[in-house]
Amino acid sequence: MLCEMCGIEVANPILSKISGTILRTCQKCSAMGVEATEREKIGNKNYISDVMNKRSNRLREKEIKTEKILVEDFGILIKNGRENKKWSQKELASKISEKKSTIASIENKQYKPEKKLINKLETVLEIRLMEEIEVKDSVKTSETTGMTLADLIEKSNG
Ligand SMILES: [Zn+2]
Repeated sequence: MLCEMCGIEVANPILSKISGTILRTCQKCSAMGVEATEREKIGNKNYISDVMNKRSNRLREKEIKTEKILVEDFGILIKNGRENKKWSQKELASKISEKKSTIASIENKQYKPEKKLINKLETVLEIRLMEEIEVKDSVKTSETTGMTLADLIEKSNG
């Protein structure tokens, strides 16, 4: 591996405490710091893995972001749902306190119902009109890049 201080190839790196940070260094660089105690070696390692875990958990939560949207073929679904109930457009309209023309427009997809109306149609027709889609989080990409282990070590120092 490479010495974390000077970057030269080392066969047997030495764990040294340099400016409060545990680093794997070559013999020469280890002279600049004090050799780390066993507790310090473990402590720092745990700290970093802990930070890494928390970080990836946070990112995972962000990645799985879903949004509910109206299904593409809502017109057909509503028409079929209504016909299953053997209701006319007028009958359906009166059940949800809407106009017959509204139902006709929705079934022809000339009019996209808003959330409140969608909910009423779902309840009365016993159908699902919303579907969950995954949304890409644009913030995620800028956040994941440019973070290195060195950054973490720096942060663990402060
Ligand atoms: Zn070195």
